[in-house]
Amino acid sequence: MTMAEALEQGMAFLDSPGTHYVATPNPEIVELCRENPAARRAVNGADLVLADGVGIIKGAAMLGTPLRDRLPGIEFAAGLMARMAKQGRSLYLLGAKPGVADAAAKILKERYFGLKIAGTHDGYFQDNAPIVEAIRASGADVVFVCLGAPKQEFWMEQYGPETGAHLLCGLGGSLDVFAGAVKRAPKFWRDHGLEWFYRLCKEPSRLGRMMKLPLFLIHVQQEKKKK
Ligand code: UDP
Repeated sequence: MTMAEALEQGMAFLDSPGTHYVATPNPEIVELCRENPAARRAVNGADLVLADGVGIIKGAAMLGTPLRDRLPGIEFAAGLMARMAKQGRSLYLLGAKPGVADAAAKILKERYFGLKIAGTHDGYFQDNAPIVEAIRASGADVVFVCLGAPKQEFWMEQYGPETGAHLLCGLGGSLDVFAGAVKRAPKFWRDHGLEWFYRLCKEPSRLGRMMKLPLFLIHVQQEKKKK
């Protein structure tokens, strides 16, 4: 789908009964899903699965099933907040280190005038019940669940319905970006499919994780041969 279609679908969830969740897999998450059937189930169980990252686009094209658009989770989140603000909808921010969700809340409230922040909580908690209860009591329409993969997908799958929210979105490190703690790659890098390389330069400790990228392409190649 295109970003406009994804956002339309996301907003439609807010008016449909029940709880829905969005997953935004990149090649690293796909690799994880190959090895971990529970993670695979949690990602495939999402009501909307967005192709986050140029690797997924390349992989889909290699398999002869091209995708129309790259849909980074963070851009989906921004579009969703802009639409939510117009309708006065409320958002709960869950995840990242202590203080980050609060900082993001302040910035987002100013950036998206009309958006209600129903509450925040950091992502380093032991007991799930009080968090679920806090979200339920807040009456949030949407929850951004930023716990990293696959923790966030498991969390949305298991606890989503109990929160009473209409939509949960698994968004990795997005709260760090919204809070200004981590910068996204400049537009040139993003437009040229090099966001992953920018992140690697900024955070060399991600090298181990990024080695999943070539592995992903090898696995796509193997899939292609099977076809
Ligand atoms: N995180 C969390 N709780 C945890 C583990 C991670 O809240 O138990 C947060 C972490 O602080 C970071 C995010 O989850 O804000 C994961 O970021 P990462 O860069 O790994 O995600 P990506 O954007 O690459 O999917």
